Amino acid sequence: MKFETLAIHAGQEPDPNNGAVMTPVYLTSTYKQDGVGKPRQGYEYSRTMNPTRKALQDCLAALEGGNFGLAFASGLAATDTILRLLNAGDHVLAGNDVYGGTFRLFDKVLRRFSLDFTFADTTDPESVAEALTPSTRLVWLETPTNPFLRITDIRAVAEVVHAHKNNPLLVVDNTFATPYLQRPLELGADIVVHSMTKYLGGHSDVVGGAVIVQDKDLADRLYFLQNAVGAVIGPMDSFLVLRGIKTLPLRMDRHFENASAIVEFLSNHPKIERLIYPFHESHPQYKIARQQMKNGGGMISFIMKGGRDAAIKVVENTEIFTLAESLGGVESLIEVPAAMTHLSVAGSQLEVDPGLVRLSVGVEHKEDLIEDLKQALEKA
Ligand SMILES: *Cc1c(COP(=O)(O)O)cnc(C)c1O
Repeated sequence: MKFETLAIHAGQEPDPNNGAVMTPVYLTSTYKQDGVGKPRQGYEYSRTMNPTRKALQDCLAALEGGNFGLAFASGLAATDTILRLLNAGDHVLAGNDVYGGTFRLFDKVLRRFSLDFTFADTTDPESVAEALTPSTRLVWLETPTNPFLRITDIRAVAEVVHAHKNNPLLVVDNTFATPYLQRPLELGADIVVHSMTKYLGGHSDVVGGAVIVQDKDLADRLYFLQNAVGAVIGPMDSFLVLRGIKTLPLRMDRHFENASAIVEFLSNHPKIERLIYPFHESHPQYKIARQQMKNGGGMISFIMKGGRDAAIKVVENTEIFTLAESLGGVESLIEVPAAMTHLSVAGSQLEVDPGLVRLSVGVEHKEDLIEDLKQALEKA
């Protein structure tokens, strides 16, 4: 089946008891057993498995071209569970431009448990090769990154990583691209992770995380951790994400159409020093982005000539673009990462230019969005 069909049907069958077409929200923590140790259809307790969550997990696996999906309470809960595959003393190599919360979890929390982290430029497979150590067990990358929208050639990095004697796990955070634009497992990644809070949910009304893998042994270890650690998503939130996913292809196409029109408007704007968009020819990894992604997505960054003050003026003067953190919803959002989402990386090697403005372009009419940016830029 094609992606658009899977987005609507994968993991979801009409309810066998009453024919309900939409997957019911199974608000139950426990399940009647037919005898001692004889649960029906494998359901015993909802931390371990819940039918609404199972439908979502199976749908996620199908969309990423994987065999197994796992859903978590948040993107960071998913990340934390993956890192629990490791042992004290193991080394993790991560991209030097990863999500601020991922950096904070690695640097401020997991270091205390004797995991060792270094951060490297994953857009260059050579620097990944150089940064691998004899104890590297996991490589973590994001593409496109946040907020610089840097692109890593997943296939090239997978070759480098899997040539290492430990055969480290390659994890790709696919939040910005979504499986509609990019499928890392097909390019050699071992694990795909998502913040479902963003494009998969798509309506800024739910927080969730996902993990998708191909390999059965790896899946078994992760299902064990999901149950043992317990950072699971609830049935209502699972339902909301399932519902969001149904329109993912429609939304991503419109995000791209609107982003393309805005990129064209911004590309020669006199107040903008630098525009960053993966499908714009000025992007340093434009060619790889074109090869690896179906379209350029809905995220745009730009650096104001007037620096921090000008950036703040722009974001405080839009009327349709809402000044807020997060991204990936149907509504357009605008923010200054250095002062908002990326405060946790201030002073570190991941620090962001204070004049950088990040747009999450929604699915409103593109002319309204351009008018809004035009008047806000005039005030800056
Ligand atoms: C938001 C985000 C996360 C964290 O997800 P939460 O659902 O907020 O915990 C991880 N990676 C990326 C790229 C994100 O944008």
